[in-house]
Amino acid sequence: MPATPAWPPKSLPRLFVRQPLGEVTSIELDAGQANYLGNVMRLGPGAELLVFDGSSGEWLARIAEAGKKRMTLAVERRTREPEAMPEVWLAFAPVKRAQTDWLVEKATELGVARLIPVMTQRTVAERVKLERLESIAIEAAEQCGRTRLPEIAEPVTLKQLLAARDERRLYFADEGGGAPVGSAFQPGPALILTGPEGGFTDEERAAIRAAANSIAVSLGPRILRAETAALAALAAFMAIAGDWRQ
Ligand code: SAM
Repeated sequence: MPATPAWPPKSLPRLFVRQPLGEVTSIELDAGQANYLGNVMRLGPGAELLVFDGSSGEWLARIAEAGKKRMTLAVERRTREPEAMPEVWLAFAPVKRAQTDWLVEKATELGVARLIPVMTQRTVAERVKLERLESIAIEAAEQCGRTRLPEIAEPVTLKQLLAARDERRLYFADEGGGAPVGSAFQPGPALILTGPEGGFTDEERAAIRAAANSIAVSLGPRILRAETAALAALAAFMAIAGDWRQ
């Protein structure tokens, strides 16, 4: 009889570290990470873990020294090269805090390369705390096995976003109607744009539709909440034109 697989699978803790790995054999963890490994995970000298720095892949490390507020890791060997990620950016109108946090966490899991908060005429969120969003993205990357972090861009106005366009295709999620994503999404650099709870104004919709390389897409016959629309568009892109096809 085949052995019953253990569930959940035993996996090593994974941590993002700010020191560039690869050139170093030893790294010092900050107090928060030392506390997490030592007091929450109850790991001590000799325990293994995985670390990544956002650019050099993933490395196996071992706890060398553990103090009350500090910990030193010995970096042993590279376990993974940095993964290739689809060049897909998501520009979203920030919503309420909890929903924006959720959006950032899930978009990181789905493999977004850059997140751009966009202030539109009907955006209600006045401030976006980038540091908070960065730490949510780091936790999600640690959990889902990414070796690169998404870039969290400074908030821009819709006007600035449209003015700073490059060659990448702009997929505009338009609840007023557009091409079905199955035929619209193409492999290649992409910018997905989704609106706020109240939607884009008619003036904004006209400006987005008139922008170079802009393709209005429909996410189906139902009106999705702003954060659902952003993640549904990203998931559909990954399935149709991104790395779910491999
Ligand atoms: N203005 C709408 C209303 O009040 O009826 C709702 C806007 S919707 C909550 C927020 C954003 O999600 C929209 O601006 C759009 O980008 C996206 N969205 C929601 N449902 C969509 C759909 N079926 N197709 C395309 N985009 C959609």
